[in-house]
Amino acid sequence: MYHVVLIIYKKKGVFDLNIIKPRHKNQEVMALRALDARVPTGHPMKEKVQTDLKIKLAEVSGEREVDYPLGFLDKKQYLILHNLRLPDNNGHFQMDTVLLSQNFILIVEVKNWLGTVIFGENDQVTRIYEGKEKGYHHPVPQARTQAFRLYQWLRKQGVPNIPIEILAVISFPSTIIKPSSPHVHIPNEVIHNSNLLFRIQELEKKYDKKVISKRQQDEVAHLLKNSDHPPSNNILDKYHLHPNDLLKGVFCPECRSLPMIRCKRKWYCTQCHHYSIDAHRFTLLDYQLLIGCWITNRAARAFLNISSPYIMKRILQQECISHIGKGKGMRYKLGYNIME
Ligand SMILES: [Zn+2]
Repeated sequence: MYHVVLIIYKKKGVFDLNIIKPRHKNQEVMALRALDARVPTGHPMKEKVQTDLKIKLAEVSGEREVDYPLGFLDKKQYLILHNLRLPDNNGHFQMDTVLLSQNFILIVEVKNWLGTVIFGENDQVTRIYEGKEKGYHHPVPQARTQAFRLYQWLRKQGVPNIPIEILAVISFPSTIIKPSSPHVHIPNEVIHNSNLLFRIQELEKKYDKKVISKRQQDEVAHLLKNSDHPPSNNILDKYHLHPNDLLKGVFCPECRSLPMIRCKRKWYCTQCHHYSIDAHRFTLLDYQLLIGCWITNRAARAFLNISSPYIMKRILQQECISHIGKGKGMRYKLGYNIME
């Protein structure tokens, strides 16, 4: 069942003013949920979609944990950018969270590792969770590389020299961090989320001089935001799927059966006998998330299992924010916005 506030997109999102670039993870979670619901059982991609959905959900709850200490920071002092992906000579580099003050930059690498994380020799990191072992990149060299690339990127853009610090934050309080042997040293930059605020306060003491003006701080933040290159968000391409691979029809909002039947301006579920007046809205949202925001009457009928172009037209006129073209070539724009 969907537990989401759905609004037709009419105004800009409202968020804390110091968050220059918010996360858009809810959108990704919704797309994966829609995909999971519409990829038939037994399809070769089904398991991968479900695994990725689990990972994404852990990311969302991990990031929520990290947002808590960040919420205590002085809003006038810090500008925050989440999920930044910048191009450089070596491709792209991605940073989970960047804090920009007039004194320093902090890159926060968030690790949503559940279970026990063991730091071994030669920068080896092993996570044990639910009886399974998995190796990971050491977060400190990873974040140092990001810091180096960000330093070079900023220099190239002519930004004055700002010190860059890194922290690798283990988001879940239940995660156990330990060395593989007493000789192994866990770097100081690896911390539990509960220490994040205090470590930032230590950095404030270390960097007590402003190196850029308030105006420069705003300019750098917007330069970073405007240079963001998000990865292609075509989810079907990512899983090598075609719209024909997806299950069509309107899901029953009560029992999740497929498909509901259109009768007397309502949707009827033959399984649980539930009636709905707007169940098509979630199906059109699935279309927007999985295929795109432009839809024709014909494509909508195929996706919603509606035979009448007139009924479809009425629904599209109600649900869409704009349209272009004429007659059969008319394309409607879906503008559902998921509140973050
Ligand atoms: Zn039902």
